[in-house]
Amino acid sequence: MIDFSRPVYVKESMSYIQQAVEQNHLCGDGSFTRKCTEWMEEHTGTERAMFTTSCTHAMELMALLMEIEPGDEVIMPSYTFASTADAFVLRGAKIVFADIRPDTMNIDENLIEQAITPRTKAIIVMHYAGVACEMDKIMEIARRHNLFVAEDAAQGMMASYKGKALGTIGDFGTYSFHETKNYTMGEGGVCLIQNREYIERAEIIREKGTDRSKFWRGEIDKYTWVDMGSSYLPSELNMAYLWGQLEIAEEINRERLSAWNRYYDGLSALAKQGMVTLPFVPEDCEHNAHMFYIKVRDEAERIKLIDFLKQRGVWAVFHYIPLHSTLAGKKFGRFSGEDRYTTKESLRLLRLPMYYGLKEEEIEFVIRAVYEFWG
Ligand SMILES: *Cc1c(COP(=O)(O)O)cnc(C)c1O
Repeated sequence: MIDFSRPVYVKESMSYIQQAVEQNHLCGDGSFTRKCTEWMEEHTGTERAMFTTSCTHAMELMALLMEIEPGDEVIMPSYTFASTADAFVLRGAKIVFADIRPDTMNIDENLIEQAITPRTKAIIVMHYAGVACEMDKIMEIARRHNLFVAEDAAQGMMASYKGKALGTIGDFGTYSFHETKNYTMGEGGVCLIQNREYIERAEIIREKGTDRSKFWRGEIDKYTWVDMGSSYLPSELNMAYLWGQLEIAEEINRERLSAWNRYYDGLSALAKQGMVTLPFVPEDCEHNAHMFYIKVRDEAERIKLIDFLKQRGVWAVFHYIPLHSTLAGKKFGRFSGEDRYTTKESLRLLRLPMYYGLKEEEIEFVIRAVYEFWG
């Protein structure tokens, strides 16, 4: 069986975990968190990186910093993971879903403006598969209407738009280190903050509403409860696991891209015959091979193909059920305009096996199996 996904494992991580244990510092913000934070700030150019217990939590932190309140509206695609909406629903916001572009599966930048109302506070973009949304246009709309832009770049670490790391273009951005992502610490995330004015409050919220971060830096001699907050800092054990991967982040990225390119080249003849549609990466975007997907004719064909591949030992999956059509989506959100592509395109999409360590012959095997389906 060729697995669909496997969590990244780097041998060095085990000795880093051992070190964390021997340092008698297992709670958050120890030496491995510092190493990972420095790496993140240097490699993304973000003003400040704050590691969190998940990407979902990093988005909760963003929503708190933006002071989202009941009655506020936030605009986002319906084709995304539940977390993108959850963080804002928790603050009482109404979710306004906009349609996607069929080529990248990202929010259609030309449909955002018509979704804006006097209650709109923020535009939340999600960079699907590590391929950037049309950020120049989105930032221009946000500035004109005085809105925040937050980037759910859960899938976007190591990817960029016009040379800028995803997650560092809007006011706030997040990456995920869930085990299904390109780099992992089991569960974990990071919040990237561009505006210095938010950094101090972010530190406080992340540390249970206390000014303990200042205390650790020796700026104050005791710490107290100063604001609302939560506990968003990850354990050193998780950070030590991640550090092993950050050290070889480029290598992991290169390997994934080469697997992606192999799929792309291998399936291009089938795409030319019109059997499948391959992913599209706009010129301004450098992606990170987070996933390789194909699109087939419709849902019925997808069901048959999944089954066909399964019989040959290939595990292929699809996702997302568009949020606006779910139980929670109907309760907490509404769709702005017409659902031209979100539902239709989501039913056509199928993800092929992709992980660090996937072998060339396995990719060839998957490609052959896909061709066999069409005879
Ligand atoms: C994985 C993912 C998340 C959630 O990340 P966690 O770290 O599991 O909280 C959110 N949004 C998108 C688009 C994702 O792919």
